[in-house]
Amino acid sequence: APTNIFINRKNSEGTNLHIDSMYQPFMDKVKRHVGKQWQGGPVINGKTQTTGEAVKVTSPQNLDEQVGSMYFADAELTVKAIEAAHKGYPNWSRTAVEMRATAIEKFADLLEAHKHELIALCTLEAGKLLQDGIDEVREAVDFCRYYAQEARKLYVYPGPLAGPTGELNELFVQPKGVFACISPWNFPLAIFTGQIVAALVTGNTVIAKPAEQTSLVAYRAVELMLEAGIPGEAIQFLPGRGRDVGSVLSRDERVVGICFTGSTDTAKAINRSLADREGAIATLIAETGGQNAMIVDSTALPEQVVKDAVQSAFMSAGQRCSALRVMYVQEDVAERVLELLKGAMQELSVGDSIHYKTDVGPVIDKTAQANLNDHIATISEKGKLLATAPMPEETAKGSFVCPTAVEIGSIKELKKEHFGPILHVIKFKAKELNNIIDDINGTGYGLTLGIHTRNESTAAYIADVVNVGNVYINRNQIGAVVGVQPFGGQGLSGTGPKAGGPHYLARFVTEKTRTNNI
Ligand code: GLU
Repeated sequence: APTNIFINRKNSEGTNLHIDSMYQPFMDKVKRHVGKQWQGGPVINGKTQTTGEAVKVTSPQNLDEQVGSMYFADAELTVKAIEAAHKGYPNWSRTAVEMRATAIEKFADLLEAHKHELIALCTLEAGKLLQDGIDEVREAVDFCRYYAQEARKLYVYPGPLAGPTGELNELFVQPKGVFACISPWNFPLAIFTGQIVAALVTGNTVIAKPAEQTSLVAYRAVELMLEAGIPGEAIQFLPGRGRDVGSVLSRDERVVGICFTGSTDTAKAINRSLADREGAIATLIAETGGQNAMIVDSTALPEQVVKDAVQSAFMSAGQRCSALRVMYVQEDVAERVLELLKGAMQELSVGDSIHYKTDVGPVIDKTAQANLNDHIATISEKGKLLATAPMPEETAKGSFVCPTAVEIGSIKELKKEHFGPILHVIKFKAKELNNIIDDINGTGYGLTLGIHTRNESTAAYIADVVNVGNVYINRNQIGAVVGVQPFGGQGLSGTGPKAGGPHYLARFVTEKTRTNNI
């Protein structure tokens, strides 16, 4: 019989008393913020705008449940935000880096102080699990503290340079101007915060455009930024639709840079629009999708492979850029690995976001659900359905997708990224290793790669020749930690800068050399 590789979380009554007593007070605090109606709108120069279209926000957990409403910005308000950010730039850019960093650290303190509320918003609006909500706040705080420290270092770098006697040569960094930060719904607080604080702490002013689906938690974060002492002229907030807001931002030459996380197609569209407009050559920092693979050879430990594959493919309902999409298993161990995989998927608990026992929550909305279900139907017909997780009745109320594993013949069958809980499995023979490496590189994506082997030279070889941003050996391939696993890909997966890495802030500044003979 398939073995359950997870720790046994349940006693005979279906509860684990130790974990219950640990989590219960925490869950109670989060739940205090559930049930009220949240509201927000664009913020220009520190003032919330309550005109225009108020859009209803519903929960992916239960599509009939309204959790709040948000005023959406239109093109006219976008122009006002650009004007405000442009006007605010001289002051904020001349504010000492120490003051900017301190304000960002104060914001981190406020995020921690308001964590229960922010976690509640992540679960309500994005359908995140409690644990994902906790991780989300943690990562947002990490970005603030890490970038504050990095900015202090960057602004003294590298100081005096060599030169002839009597001549002083120095290199300085300077902010660039107005940055638009366009963030995704899958990390509605962490990536939203990371982009903004990177741009702000280096002295740029920011126009932040959150994803349409998750502007309530972003709005709350902006309120906390203002409370932390970040001036209203430095941060403008524009919830709204991409076609109303994003297109105006990328066409306006006063916006000198765009920091974007989202789809490859949108990143390319932004790039085209920046290239076509008048004025200076703009900066684009883009983190996009992946067709992430894991390679499992015959020396790997099947129990560990399955635990890591299940986490990488299904946690956060597979809605991470880093998530595992294609697991290559060497034929010699395939039977055991797939047997364990079926057992593990049978144990996945899908449902209630706010309960700690849940493993997989909903996907973001009906459209995503429909697209993923279409893909499951097509690919299962073409390939071989291996396993699904049980779907409790309550999931019918929300935009849930059944975690599914399907065997396919080649990664080439996947024409695009499928951003949800679907794991594709491909069996391979030892002599085919180089072919699968070519296939993975041939997708053009390059974000994460998992390797499971106990052979050091195999691990080193694969890690070297596969073109990706993040390689994980003998562990899961999600959940990069700020300052520990700087995160970001190459090729179709992004322009390269690593969020949470030591070189990230350098993309938000320009350099000036001064040669002085006074
Ligand atoms: N940094 C996240 C991780 O390592 C993924 C970020 C994303 O999905 O954009 O899982």
